[in-house]
Amino acid sequence: MPRKIALVGVGKIAIDQHIPALNASSDWELAAAVSRNTVVDGIPNYTSMDEMLKAHPEVEVVSLCMPPVPRFEYARAALKAGRHVMLEKPPGATLSEVHTLAELADDAGLTLYATWHSREAAFVKAAKAWLAGKTVESFTVTWHESVRKWHPGQDWVFEAGGMGIFDPGINALSIVTEILPDAIHLKSATLDFPENCDTPIAAQLDFYHPHGGAVTADMNWDHEGDDIWQIEAVTDQGVMTLKNGGGLLLIDGVIQAGAEDGLTGEYPNLYANMSDLVADEKSDVDLRPMLHVSDALTLGKRNFVKAFNW
Ligand code: NAP
Repeated sequence: MPRKIALVGVGKIAIDQHIPALNASSDWELAAAVSRNTVVDGIPNYTSMDEMLKAHPEVEVVSLCMPPVPRFEYARAALKAGRHVMLEKPPGATLSEVHTLAELADDAGLTLYATWHSREAAFVKAAKAWLAGKTVESFTVTWHESVRKWHPGQDWVFEAGGMGIFDPGINALSIVTEILPDAIHLKSATLDFPENCDTPIAAQLDFYHPHGGAVTADMNWDHEGDDIWQIEAVTDQGVMTLKNGGGLLLIDGVIQAGAEDGLTGEYPNLYANMSDLVADEKSDVDLRPMLHVSDALTLGKRNFVKAFNW
């Protein structure tokens, strides 16, 4: 029997990824949606999550697809109502609020899953396996994309808590923290804040690496042209290049065989993971990607750059 799940916050990512992934899965039945503005065809729709929870005691899992700032109150209410909770990335607006949610879930014996969709790209596991046991000499992240393409008109990304460039940059950090064999921490950062925004539009990060490797990240959200989502690792035993956000892997310049479109499995994998976590009565809340973002916002030198306009 498929597990019943409800989606809350029906915007770009719910429509692009969550609904298709759920509809294609035999593990799940999308049983209800909560949206203040949208209706999902063929299922009961609500404008209030509390009403949905009251009307659907059979809904075991709530998947929260709204931006990070409003998410905590929804997550808390769903856990208090005895439902398992799945969080879009980044899992919250602050680290402390996610710790609070993790404790609530733990105390109630419920699953909390802080998802990192980029970790589910086709070649992330292979990249991790290739790097294991090698000495990293340099590890260079380049994450350039257009905010106008991926977040058209979404003002929240430039408001406090929206994280700006770290909204996509945290995807890179979720891969870095998964595949890099060594623990790193931020040494310095430079953040470019448009003069009319609360969050940065570009960031350069420089990390401490325990074996002296040069670990850096260059992130830019005001990029025209094709997305550049790349991580290059120079090691004592060759060069690994993870391109297309983890959808393509090259070793010493040679493309590794595998998935044709390396990103299509991300959301199906997240829902398969959630199904396993609920069945195993476990949670998965890895906050390392967000720790690095938080450190960058604490330590980063701020440059003020020209105002951003859509
Ligand atoms: P979005 O379209 O701007 O917002 C998603 C939905 O959240 C809105 O349609 C709205 O749903 C709800 N919402 C917005 N503000 C709210 C508020 N103050 N209170 C309650 N609900 C609110 O954003 P998105 O692009 O889908 O991104 C949502 C999350 O997914 C973010 O954390 C983002 O990082 C992540 N994500 C986005 C992408 C992408 O390509 N855009 C990719 C991967 C992950 P209703 O109108 O239904 O109420």
